[in-house]
Amino acid sequence: MIDNHLPTGELQALDAAHHMHPFTEGAALAKKGARIITSAKGVWLTDSEGEEILDAMAGLWCVNIGYGRDELVDAAARQMKQLPFYNTFFQTSHVPAIMLAKRLAELAPGALNHVFFNGSGSDSNDTNLRLVRHYWAAKGQPERKVVISRWNGYHGSTMGAASLGGMKGMHAQGGLPIPDIAHIDQPDWWSEGGDMTPDEFGLERARQLESKIEEIGADKVAAFIAEPVQGAGGVIVPPESYWPEIQRITQKYGILLIADEVITGFGRTGNWFGSQTMSITPDIMTCAKGITSGYIPLGASIVSTEIFDTLNAAEEFAHGYTYSGHPVACAVALENLRILEEEGIVERAGKETAPYLKEKWQSLADHPLVGEAKIVGMMGSIALTPNKATRAKFAAPAGTVGYICRERCFANNLVMRHVGDRMIISPPLVISKDEIDTLIARARLSLDETYEKIK
Ligand code: PLP
Repeated sequence: MIDNHLPTGELQALDAAHHMHPFTEGAALAKKGARIITSAKGVWLTDSEGEEILDAMAGLWCVNIGYGRDELVDAAARQMKQLPFYNTFFQTSHVPAIMLAKRLAELAPGALNHVFFNGSGSDSNDTNLRLVRHYWAAKGQPERKVVISRWNGYHGSTMGAASLGGMKGMHAQGGLPIPDIAHIDQPDWWSEGGDMTPDEFGLERARQLESKIEEIGADKVAAFIAEPVQGAGGVIVPPESYWPEIQRITQKYGILLIADEVITGFGRTGNWFGSQTMSITPDIMTCAKGITSGYIPLGASIVSTEIFDTLNAAEEFAHGYTYSGHPVACAVALENLRILEEEGIVERAGKETAPYLKEKWQSLADHPLVGEAKIVGMMGSIALTPNKATRAKFAAPAGTVGYICRERCFANNLVMRHVGDRMIISPPLVISKDEIDTLIARARLSLDETYEKIK
């Protein structure tokens, strides 16, 4: 049993001494001490001081069914007793991987009927990168290697996934991107749209894909990868003109479309997948996070029948992870998908709670600090600005005001994240209307306090 009962200060000191945190400034952490979360239920976290915090980020966009579902614990325990591990290499398989692959093939739209399991979102995108190159080689076009993605897109932290991503801060550390990755600009109208209407801007940004393909040469381009709705980049909802144009261009040049659904999958945008919400037909979908509601790590690349058939006819794809199709993770995922479906969570979130959240979220746009308030399904963002009319940026370095607002939220027991000066939410899909009211009240209070602070 893990000792949950050490005093907070002692835990913080041990944490700062030995624990290296992802995406965390070490000096700030050592000075302030981490907030230590000890338990959770539904949409509520409890910290080591007994404070109850509304988690409007579902952990890291992952706890779609909410915290504290014993059915997932029982599914893991049953599987651990029966078969805690076996691999799926070298012509072996096991029931959880078989049944989960079948279930995902049923849920995923169109011809996406074949599943390669991975351990996370990052290594799923590494799989995709290798897989699309292997696919084109198998089709006799090995020179088709380049994958195009977007600045400010996020696809993970491994060498491949961080290269696919367009986070310049990540590229600056360690010589990324790796070769044969190219980037185009993102469809963020609020920050970059200038005098264009959102639809004009959406088309302009989509057509950058066409220009980039022409510049590289279509015979060298393997795929385009993008999140249906950018998450970690700040919940950037693209203009309506964007995705149809992207789809037209990928089809015109015959390049593969990879939809990174790590955040947008499993109900987040109001449908099972963001591709359905955005009316896209991808050739590959990247999944992780909500596939197990984050209770245990698992990732998946779901590919079309055409890709599957091509790979099966080619030499062996020399790729795989020890934990590809881990039986315990697959058993937990199956139970998670059963709950999402049988309890009507995806449907209820899409039809009832998401519209309610949308109305309340958009009401924040009357706050003096808030420019646009965007939301799709259960993922939303607000842009903080000193001047709504001109969509101005703050004089302080980007992220300063967002950080203040995030700190006020945290002090008011609300987890809301900031990306630069955008505040973002992605609550568990099971959030109730009462809890949405609490979320909005705490967000408004935190915005008021931020406003006072920066005056
Ligand atoms: N792709 C997207 C769209 C993500 O948002 C993330 C993580 O936030 C990843 C990939 C990487 O997933 P993981 O952190 O599980 O490696």
